Amino acid sequence: MKKILVTGGAGFIGTHLCEKLLNQGNEVICLDNYYTGSKVNVEELIGRKYFELIRHDITFPILIEVDQIYNLACPASPVHYQVDPVQTTKTSVHGSINMLELAKRTGARILQSSTSEVYGDPEIHPQKENYWGRVNPIGIRSCYDEGKRCAETLFFDYYRQYNIDIKVARIFNTYGPKMQLQDGRVISNFIVQALKNENLTIFGDGAQSRSFCYVDDIVDGLIKLMNSRNDFTGPVNIGNPDEISILELAEKILKLTGSKSKIVYKPLPLDDPKRRQPVIDLAEKELGWQPQIQLDDGLKKTINYFKSRVLYNKL
Ligand code: NAD
Ligand code: UDP
Repeated sequence: MKKILVTGGAGFIGTHLCEKLLNQGNEVICLDNYYTGSKVNVEELIGRKYFELIRHDITFPILIEVDQIYNLACPASPVHYQVDPVQTTKTSVHGSINMLELAKRTGARILQSSTSEVYGDPEIHPQKENYWGRVNPIGIRSCYDEGKRCAETLFFDYYRQYNIDIKVARIFNTYGPKMQLQDGRVISNFIVQALKNENLTIFGDGAQSRSFCYVDDIVDGLIKLMNSRNDFTGPVNIGNPDEISILELAEKILKLTGSKSKIVYKPLPLDDPKRRQPVIDLAEKELGWQPQIQLDDGLKKTINYFKSRVLYNKL
């Protein structure tokens, strides 16, 4: 049994990760400041013998004895990370330093949840790990993108300078149950709008693409990376290469929900990337990992989850 710290453990991906790690027989410490996460997400885990919940902000140091650290703390939805951009950068930069210092003191292995956003608005398609990216350093997405890029730098400098045992995952767009109703990301927005028979809001003309991965596949990839061979650090893309335009996604969600909602077009936010698709050869080779869940199947599960939430909240 390992003692595992999950920062951001009460968020969307963190909740699924905590549950899986517990089910695998580990002791899990979930740390969160509830900025975008919530206790409700982990309510089924509270009370389990090997689960512990700590309210803490990773921009401040903490000392706990652990064997592994999954550093997931950071708001991931543009609408939320742009509310307090300075705190977003601090979470990636100060937060990573604090978690890396913890790894240094305890000898724990530490995994960083980086992102496809390090590739920015890419001029290389699809994206491989050796692509350095095209990020605006002073735009409204920079607090997240540059924060995550700097976090990767810190991870690799702690690795080179102090021999810290690091793993870096570049996660691509993820969806599934336990996203907040107000999360603001595209799949949760479209599903909630469709279930409420409200207009589906496409930003821009909907020709921009993303490649969406179901959360169970992501969690599986993160655990495989954490337990990969000692000298494999990543960065490694973890995502589903199945690319789809935002317009096609809207049409698919309308069909799957049977909704009468209409599609409306709103202005495209600044610096919104045009295309996004991971090359996952490295994850396949090093981790023996590839996504198992097709978009239609994952969307059906996610729609069922939101149906229960929307009815429960009488929205
Ligand atoms: P989320 O917003 O649902 O979860 C983030 C969690 O971190 C929340 O519970 C939040 O309260 C917590 N948090 C934020 N700042 C904190 C701080 N300073 N101290 C402690 N806790 C803090 O997001 P998510 O989708 O679950 O993403 C989890 C991680 O995966 C993030 O680091 C994100 O950047 C990364 N990621 C996610 C996606 C995706 O599509 N979901 C894609 C790429 C990378
Ligand atoms: N998007 C949209 N309508 C929404 C929310 C998002 O058209 O209600 C678009 C957004 O402009 C982007 C894509 O969907 O092009 C994915 O957005 P999301 O915020 O989910 O993730 P990210 O842009 O960080 O990849």
